[in-house]
Amino acid sequence: MASHLDGGRDRINIAIDGPAGAGKSTVARKVAEILHYIYIDTGAMYRAVTYSALRAGISPGDSEQLSQHVESINITLNPGPNGQIVLLNGVDITGDIRSREVTLHVSQVAAVEQVRLRLVNMQRALAKNKGVVMDGRDIGSHVLPDAELKIFLTASVQERALRRFKELNGQDGITLSQLEKEIAERDRKDQERDISPLICANDAIVLDSTSMTIDEVADSIVNLSRTKLAEAK
Ligand code: C5P
Repeated sequence: MASHLDGGRDRINIAIDGPAGAGKSTVARKVAEILHYIYIDTGAMYRAVTYSALRAGISPGDSEQLSQHVESINITLNPGPNGQIVLLNGVDITGDIRSREVTLHVSQVAAVEQVRLRLVNMQRALAKNKGVVMDGRDIGSHVLPDAELKIFLTASVQERALRRFKELNGQDGITLSQLEKEIAERDRKDQERDISPLICANDAIVLDSTSMTIDEVADSIVNLSRTKLAEAK
């Protein structure tokens, strides 16, 4: 029977949303690897704009300047051997966008309407041929409302802070309780913003990864994707 999927190809789009540090990127990358799909980390795009704006001396609270700035820069995502490579005007900034300074300001930048409009257009264009695993905050609810599989990945804030603390391994000198506060604050800003806030889409499947391993989460998403693919045919 002919597939009604885009162009008849046997591929779907998978949206993975959830709060900071729930393991979305690691899981999304694994799922994409298993299915031979393209992984797109939309958080990296908001981080790239934030990094660029901070370098240009723009205040994260100045929405007018941010709106102009986002139109003047070129962000590219390329697949690399260890995950996605982020280029700003052709320069590799993959490591720079993970700095504490960027992390502390990104939610403010991501609340600016023009920033979101520009990045959402890019995200939709990247997903138009299907076969993407896209992670973020508003993918299932706004960017790809027609994604065949939507996952809302969550975990307790304590667990998310602990994972990040282990990952940092003493770098930055941040304490566990400080991290917990910063993560909770970023969640609050992402949930309370006016434009496409972090919400669980009505048709998303909620996965709580608090007591699951990355592999368990990735396997269950791959299994769900196979079911969705079979249903879509
Ligand atoms: O995923 P990550 O934690 O790297 O995202 C950084 C920030 O980018 C989030 O805290 C959020 O403010 C913003 N973001 C967003 N919408 C997305 C992805 C990320 O607003 N789709």
